[in-house]
Amino acid sequence: MNVKDQIQTLRKELQTHNHSYYVLDTPTISDFEFDKKLEQLQRLEKQHPEFDDLNSPTHRVGGGVTKNFETIVHDHRMYSLDNSYSKEDLLDWEIRVKKMIDGEVNYSCELKYDGASISLTYENGILLRAVTRGDGLQGDNVTTNIKTIKSVPLKLKGAYPNKFDIRGEIVLPWEGFNAMNKDREALGLELYRNPRNTASGSLKLQDSAEVAKRPLQCLLYNITGNNLGITTQMESLEKAREWGFRVPKAAKLAKNIDEVLEFINHWNEARHELPYETDGVVIKVNNLQQQEELGYTAKAPRWAMAYKFKAEQVTTRLREITYQVGRTGAITPVANLYPVELAGTTVKRASLHNADQIEKLDIRVGDEVFVEKGGEIIPKIIAVDLTQRPETSEPTTYITNCPECDTELIRKEGEAQHYCPNDEGCPPQIIGRIQHYISRKAMDIDGLGGETVALLVKEGLISNYADLYVLTVEELLPLERMAQKSAENLVHGVKASTQIPFEKVLFGLGIRYVGETVAKKLAKHYKNITSIMEATVLELITVDEIGEKIAESVVLFFSKPASIVLVERLRSYGVQLEIAPEKLAGKSEILAGKTFVVSGVFDMPRPELKKLIEDNGGKVSSAISSKTTYLIAGDKMGPSKLQKAKKIDVTIISEQDFLDLVYR
Ligand code: AMP
Ligand code: ZN
Repeated sequence: MNVKDQIQTLRKELQTHNHSYYVLDTPTISDFEFDKKLEQLQRLEKQHPEFDDLNSPTHRVGGGVTKNFETIVHDHRMYSLDNSYSKEDLLDWEIRVKKMIDGEVNYSCELKYDGASISLTYENGILLRAVTRGDGLQGDNVTTNIKTIKSVPLKLKGAYPNKFDIRGEIVLPWEGFNAMNKDREALGLELYRNPRNTASGSLKLQDSAEVAKRPLQCLLYNITGNNLGITTQMESLEKAREWGFRVPKAAKLAKNIDEVLEFINHWNEARHELPYETDGVVIKVNNLQQQEELGYTAKAPRWAMAYKFKAEQVTTRLREITYQVGRTGAITPVANLYPVELAGTTVKRASLHNADQIEKLDIRVGDEVFVEKGGEIIPKIIAVDLTQRPETSEPTTYITNCPECDTELIRKEGEAQHYCPNDEGCPPQIIGRIQHYISRKAMDIDGLGGETVALLVKEGLISNYADLYVLTVEELLPLERMAQKSAENLVHGVKASTQIPFEKVLFGLGIRYVGETVAKKLAKHYKNITSIMEATVLELITVDEIGEKIAESVVLFFSKPASIVLVERLRSYGVQLEIAPEKLAGKSEILAGKTFVVSGVFDMPRPELKKLIEDNGGKVSSAISSKTTYLIAGDKMGPSKLQKAKKIDVTIISEQDFLDLVYR
C-alpha cells in the first residue's frame, strides 16, 4: 500500500472507531490500540504534509486559538421553546394544534438535553461550521472548538443531503463533569456549579486544546434545510443517526397526549439514571408538513412544546457540621444530614461552601432543612424550616482552628474561604500536595497511588515530593501489602519521572492557581524554573492569560525558603526544570512541501505569519499559481486573488485553519 492509501485507511479506521466509541458507546478496539493508530497517522501526516486534510481525526486535539469569535447570521432562525408544567398545559396546547390541523396528529417525544444549543452546517458531507444560538438570529462561530468534540462527525456516512443545518445540544455528562471538578478541587480552584454552564462556557474558550480536554458530547435533535426528502421528525432522527450523529435512543412516537404523558412519567423517574442532565421533555408534532402549517410565534414554534420536570425537594434534619481541609489548606464546611432519599439516591451530606453561606442560611445543628437536587451535582440546602427549630438551638459558630492540625485559620480579604496556613505541617495538605505531584496530569508516576502516598507520609518515610526520589526498596518492604515487585516498581516509576517535561513538573509543584494551562504558558514564556523564580508580579502579568492573582501566588510560592529547597533538591535528582532544546526553537518540518499565499489582514502581524510558515518548513509565495497549496485568506483580501484561487481550485483557509495546521 502506498503512503496515501495508508493514510486514508488509517483515517477511515479511526473515524469508524471514533463513531463506535463516542456515538454508539460500543468501543471496537482498546484505547491503547486506538492511540497507537492515531500516533501512526500523526507520524505519516507529519512526514507527508502534502496529504494533510483539516478533517483528519488528528485535528481533533485542538490547538487553534480564537481571540474574537466571528458573528454569523443563521440561515434558519434558532427558536426557543414554549414551556408547560402540567397535563392541563399540554391539553391546551393540543387544542390549539387541532384548531389549525385537520386530521390525525402524532407526536415525537424527546428528552430535553440541558446544555448549550449549537447549529452545525454540513456541505457535501463535511462539517462547514458550528454556530452558537446567540440571540436566535445570529450566533458565534465556534467551529474550531466544536471540531474537538469526538461525537461531532467531521465527515458523514451514507446518503446525506448536499447541504443542511443540524441542531443539537452540547452537554457535559456527569462523569466528565465530576472528573473535571476533582481536578479543580485538587488545584484549590472553585468548583464548577453545574454541567450546563460548564458546557456553554467551554464553547467560548479561546484555546481549543482546552476544549479538547473536556469530555463534551453533542446530542442532535433537528435537521433544517431545503428539499431534504424527510417527512417526519422521527424519520429525521433516524436519518441523523445513519449519517453518524449521536441521537439519544429515548425518542419515542406518541399517538396522543396520554401517550405523551406516559413518556413524561417514565422519564420523570428514569432521568436520574441518565449519564447527562435533562430538565424536561420536548414534544413535537411529528409530521413535518403539519409543522409547516402550524408555523411559529414571535419566539417559538407552534408545533413544539417543552415540558419541564420539577426539581425534587425533601426535608431532613442536620446532624452535624464538619470541616474538610483540602490540599491548598482551603476549609470546606459539610452538612451531615440524617439520610434521606432524593432523586433516586440516598443523601447524607451537602456542601455548605463557606462561612458566609452558613450565616446566610442561619443553619444550626438540629434544624429541619430543605434539600434540593436541581441542576447541581451536590445536593443543595435551600433553606431552614424555622417553624421546626428546637428551642434549645444555638447559632453556628464557625471553627477558628484547623480540624487537622489545630493551627489558627486565616481568611484573606475578598475571599470566601478560610484557610489553614500551616502548609508545611498540616497532614492533609502534605499528603494532598504529594498526591497532586504524582497525579496523571503532572508527573504521572507509575506504581505509586494516592493511598500509598498517604501511607508513606503516615509512616514518616516522606514529607514532601522531593523525598520520593530518595526512597529505597529496603525502606518500602516493611510496609503493609508492599511486595518486592511493587517496591521495585515504585522506585523505578519515581526514577522514570525525571524524564517528564518541565511544564508538567511546574504544574506538579502545586502552586496555587497554576493549573495545566497556566503552567504551559509560564514554561513556554520563561523556558526554565530559575527565570520564573526571579520574575516579579509586574513581569508575570505581562504573560498571556496570567492575571494578578496567579502572579502573586507564583511569587509567594517562590518566596518561601522551603519551596527553594524543594526545587533545588528536585534539580539534584535530575528532574526536568527547563524546556527541552528542540521545543525552544519552535521549529518543525510540518509544512514541508507546501506553498502558501497570504492575503488580507490578520490578527497576527503578517511578518510573524510568514515566519511561522518558514520556521515550519513551508514556502511563502506572493502570487497564486498551480504550485500554491493553500491561500490563507484574511479580512479585506483582494477579490482578484480570491477569484484566481477559486478558478484553479486552490484550497482557501482562514488564519485559524492555518494555526490548526501548525499547532495541532
Ligand atoms: P429554552 O432554552 O428553555 O427556551 O429551551 C429551548 C432549547 O431547548 C432549545 O434552544 C434547545 O437548545 C434545547 N433542547 C434540548 N433538547 C431539545 C430537543 N430534544 N428538541 C428541541 N430542543 C431541545
Ligand atoms: Zn491544618
